[in-house]
Amino acid sequence: MTTNGDRFWETTDLASLDEAQWEALCDGCARCCLQKLADADTGDVYYTDVACGLLDIATCRCTDYSRRRHRMPACIQLTPERVLSSPWLPATCAYRLRALGRPLPRWHHLISGNRNDVHASGASIRGKAVSMADPTDADLMARVIEMVQNDTGCRLFLPPPPSKGGRS
Ligand code: SF4
Ligand code: SF4
Repeated sequence: MTTNGDRFWETTDLASLDEAQWEALCDGCARCCLQKLADADTGDVYYTDVACGLLDIATCRCTDYSRRRHRMPACIQLTPERVLSSPWLPATCAYRLRALGRPLPRWHHLISGNRNDVHASGASIRGKAVSMADPTDADLMARVIEMVQNDTGCRLFLPPPPSKGGRS
């Protein structure tokens, strides 16, 4: 497989990507690694600014990626089939964009050639997330955020109050 130069993400549908291509498509924003609450009645998902316990919030990298499912059973393994049935994925998630036939943003490393651009653009959670040991649902309720998403990524977090929750 080739991940550079052939713009594989435009010519190959998600289900046909090989493992290396699939991993390369991830933009490294780590927004999906923020802890979430789900409204028990509506199913609405609320993001918090509390990072998963395995996330390095400085690098936005999982610290035990190969064993993440074992270490964090709640970590959802994204698959081509799950992308469009996971409404909690950020609007700028590269998998979501490609599943919808949309282009990758300018700051995506496959476009810009620089993995730091996801951070420089404001699209990643760097500088926006906190680490918290064993947060309770009440802790998370107090940390609910709203991602303000636009063409260049999420730039602001605003706090709307959820009604009730259960961890997601
Ligand atoms: S286990 Fe790793 S990949 Fe999964 S949510 Fe946590 S930091 Fe992200
Ligand atoms: S939101 Fe999508 S592109 Fe960003 S880190 Fe998560 S899986 Fe990767």
